[in-house]
Amino acid sequence: MLLREVEYARPATVDEAISLLGSHDGARPLAGGQTLVNVMKQRAAAPDVLVDLADLDELRSIGFSSDGMLEIGAMVTYAQLEGSSEVDVARPILAEVAATIADVQVRNRGTIGGNVCVSDPTNHFPPLLAALDATFTIRGSGGERTISADEFFVGVYLTAVGEGELLTTVNVPPSSGAGDGFAGLTIGAHGTYIVNAAATVSSDGARVAIGCVAATPVRATAMEERLAGGDYSEESVRAAADGLGASLDPPADVHGSADFRRHLAEVSAVRAALQAAGRRK
Ligand SMILES: Cc1cc2nc3c(=O)[nH]c(=O)nc-3n(C[C@H](O)[C@H](O)[C@H](O)COP(=O)(O)OP(=O)(O)OC[C@H]3O[C@@H](n4cnc5c(N)ncnc54)[C@H](O)[C@@H]3O)c2cc1C
Repeated sequence: MLLREVEYARPATVDEAISLLGSHDGARPLAGGQTLVNVMKQRAAAPDVLVDLADLDELRSIGFSSDGMLEIGAMVTYAQLEGSSEVDVARPILAEVAATIADVQVRNRGTIGGNVCVSDPTNHFPPLLAALDATFTIRGSGGERTISADEFFVGVYLTAVGEGELLTTVNVPPSSGAGDGFAGLTIGAHGTYIVNAAATVSSDGARVAIGCVAATPVRATAMEERLAGGDYSEESVRAAADGLGASLDPPADVHGSADFRRHLAEVSAVRAALQAAGRRK
């Protein structure tokens, strides 16, 4: 199906983009277009104005803040993450996960900002960034704020980015000796996840987040608490995940029942935690 008629703007600066978004009720940012253009073709979204972020070089960089945070511009593509020496030094799991998304075309066009702003519960990055304790910087005409993953992901296709605002940066703490893991079950190779889990293990303890089981990533806090003693043997990690599935209320669809998803959540969380602890590839 062809797109319906839509106005198009290509601002040169972030301020100009924010001004355009704020001055048109039906304006929407366009990043890689890998989700937005498809839903527009299906008439599931019908913005009046597309504000293309393609020329905003300040959103395309990857660097470090003065306190060592990995700062990833919202327009950084998955392919950029895969090839970034900064990501490789600070948090290679970001590149490893980016490399498994869909196909080369999606990875060349799709952006980390678009991935989280669309807040699709089956996307790869929401649980990963929740487990990594990432923060999100949002800019609007009233200024800038930085919020946690818990505050950022609000619901299915809903985030804390308001009308007239842009996500500018995803900030990820450096690993500082932490290990990271990501596991799950996809529909076919490089397909959409049925359930996924991300984990990070450091001297501060474990953070585990489950994707695809609710509107937003779910932190496995009981599992995290049971791992607080620092025993990451397979037996201990399995015991820590026991009951995780029962605490979830996942959806059922043609790809799996709610019970199957509960089971997958436990298996994925164990695998992600063991990988983060260096006990599994
Ligand atoms: C065939 C196919 C398979 C896919 N499989 C997967 C998969 O398995 N896992 C996965 O994670 N993803 C998958 N995707 C989705 C892909 O990762 C998209 O790239 C991603 O969901 C959106 O990123 P984008 O840059 O293309 O954003 P766009 O489609 O351009 O935008 C998505 C939404 O975010 C908003 N937005 C974008 N950037 C900003 C910003 N900086 N500030 C505020 N709002 C913004 C847009 O207005 C829009 O509402 C798949 C896509 C395709 C086409």
